[in-house]
Amino acid sequence: MSFLKITNPATGLLLAEVPADNVDSVAVKARAARAAQPAWAATPLSERRACIERFRALVMAQLEILATTLSSEVGKPITQSRNELNGLLMRIDFFLEHVEPSTALQTVFDDGGMTERIGHDPLGVVVNISAWNYPYFVGGNVFVPALLTGNAVLYKPSEYSTLTGLHIARLLRDAGVPEGVFTTVVGTGHVGAALLAQDIDALFFTGSAVTGGKIAATMGPRLVKLQLELGGKDPSYVCDDVDVKAAAESLADGAMYNTGQSCCSVERIYVHERIHDAFVDAFVNTVKAMRIGDPMVEGSYIGPITREPQLEVLAAQVADALAKGATLRTGGKRLARIGNWFEPTVFTDVHHGMDLMIDESFGPIIGIQKVSDDAEALRLMNDTRYGLTAGVYSRDQKRAAAILAKANAGSVYWNCCDRVSPRLPWSGHGDSGIGLTLSTYGIQTFTRPRAWHLRQP
Ligand code: NAD
Repeated sequence: MSFLKITNPATGLLLAEVPADNVDSVAVKARAARAAQPAWAATPLSERRACIERFRALVMAQLEILATTLSSEVGKPITQSRNELNGLLMRIDFFLEHVEPSTALQTVFDDGGMTERIGHDPLGVVVNISAWNYPYFVGGNVFVPALLTGNAVLYKPSEYSTLTGLHIARLLRDAGVPEGVFTTVVGTGHVGAALLAQDIDALFFTGSAVTGGKIAATMGPRLVKLQLELGGKDPSYVCDDVDVKAAAESLADGAMYNTGQSCCSVERIYVHERIHDAFVDAFVNTVKAMRIGDPMVEGSYIGPITREPQLEVLAAQVADALAKGATLRTGGKRLARIGNWFEPTVFTDVHHGMDLMIDESFGPIIGIQKVSDDAEALRLMNDTRYGLTAGVYSRDQKRAAAILAKANAGSVYWNCCDRVSPRLPWSGHGDSGIGLTLSTYGIQTFTRPRAWHLRQP
């Protein structure tokens, strides 16, 4: 048997070694899921709901243990781990409230002896391959509605958030989800690849565009339902009519929260030339005041980079920006301490010839570019292969809406950023993915519509 080593990114110390799956054990788990799914689908919705309600209660009761594990394996500052878990509770509440109305049998026509109805059947066996940066959010967006709607779930947490994945499996089991209905598969990308070869009905993936592309290429000929939630290079534009300090503080948080490792982190900022210098001063002052430190210590705001290889990506973006004439306002290098630490970094005098403004950074680094008007801002915002979110800061809602309506993004923000709501669909364009989660659409996506044509004899 092989083991997966779990390392604390803040200290470099080994946290645990857990037994990993292999091609054979993945196949056994997939067969067990197939066998368990019909009985779960036949279980009344009220009982499936009761399981998820008990899961919610267990998450709440054990929140501190779960937050500590998350902070130690991912390096997320402890308050941000608690925030994620509290956010999960709110998402569960949304799914519990909306699953019945979203999936109830609906009569859409009834006349002259002819009735037409839409039903919602579970997809069957659903694979969920997940990212590490918000494991409770990106996992919960899939396994909670998938279980509520009668699917069996094969869940592969990222190799960087495996202990969290094992907590989720334990809590669902303790909540009464039957054996085989929710199964955790442990390992790296090889184990994820083994899942693709199983007899499954749908695959929901969250991760990088590179891995998403590989999965799409493999799954294409299988004609299995596929959803991909991928990366972003999310822009925000600051108009010349804003409260400069408030906009700078909001955007600094959007760029640096979770140490910049959010799919919807602000990754590029465009600022109207009239307020550019004042905005940059306020932004840099806010970033300099952010407390870098041990994720376990209350008040730490910037933690380590979760994956060590990402440090090289950040260093390369810094070198490329400097070589092409960008001005470094703060940060720019690894911190001289054990673990994967990188200084919060701000560049100005940037342009789209620099990697920093084109490729996902996924770290605490941001470029601020001066623009002369709204048209230039919009053109630059849309100059990307991604399309996850885009934002505009302005006092004028009409002005912002005119820009946001043309932004190539699944979510658009007026005077806010880095925000996800369970009530709204979460989706991306282009290299940010296909399909969606959250909202009532994100419940129905785990079902197959059945069209009933019923003629009275
Ligand atoms: P990743 O692509 O490296 O890994 C994601 C998952 O895929 C992991 O569980 C990994 O083990 C697995 N995997 C790797 N190779 C595989 C293969 N060949 N076949 C099957 N599975 C394989 O991404 P990551 O580092 O975990 O996550 C970071 C990325 O995720 C960023 O790009 C971020 O923007 C994106 N993300 C997107 C969203 C969203 O909602 N759009 C949310 C969170 C993260």
